[in-house]
Amino acid sequence: MRRFTESRLLVATHNKGKLEEISALLAPFGITCVSAADMGLPEPAETETTFVGNARIKAHAAAKSTGLPALADDSGIEVDGLCGAPGVYTADWAETPNGRDFVQAMNRTWTELEAADAPYPRTARFRATMVLAWPDGHDEVFEGKVDGQVVWPMRGMQGHGYDPMFQPDGYNMTFAQMAPEEKNLISHRADAFRKLTACFEHDRS
Ligand code: IMP
Repeated sequence: MRRFTESRLLVATHNKGKLEEISALLAPFGITCVSAADMGLPEPAETETTFVGNARIKAHAAAKSTGLPALADDSGIEVDGLCGAPGVYTADWAETPNGRDFVQAMNRTWTELEAADAPYPRTARFRATMVLAWPDGHDEVFEGKVDGQVVWPMRGMQGHGYDPMFQPDGYNMTFAQMAPEEKNLISHRADAFRKLTACFEHDRS
């Protein structure tokens, strides 16, 4: 595995929340993050049909246009009773003419499960794929997941996206009922991050 030895990392996102989350996770490694938005980079179209494909598009586009190593992630929820949907289209299911509406997306998910008469438990998983790309075209891929089930009605007010309908295995709470620190210990992103940080020098902190 190629090691990451610089002190500055370009995060290929225009999402402020994502940048803050990633910056906080990398600060203990002495790494400062700068976002693609800060550098005025365009957002490439996510035209692939897999998480890794879309993360690669974002990471390589950013690395190529800046000459800096770049990190991108792509994530979503796969529902088994819907043959893995919404999957890479998780954010798209929330799109409306007035912006993203995740209550609508969760309603659609449950309505389609009911229409399919999907058996219980309605198993699902969140996946997160991170790609670290270098300007010379090399990349490293880190994949994380958390297994659980989708539940109805929605429960909890914390978190974002599909959190109110996702209950991880081993818990009676949804992600939206958990304290963020608790979710961040077991989430798909935490899983991918643990693998990513193995790529950093250990003697930085
Ligand atoms: P993207 O990775 O920015 O393409 O977005 C993926 C979508 O998956 C997000 O908009 C969220 O709806 C959903 N998602 C990813 N991770 C989580 C999570 O931890 N909780 C809830 N929803 C999530």
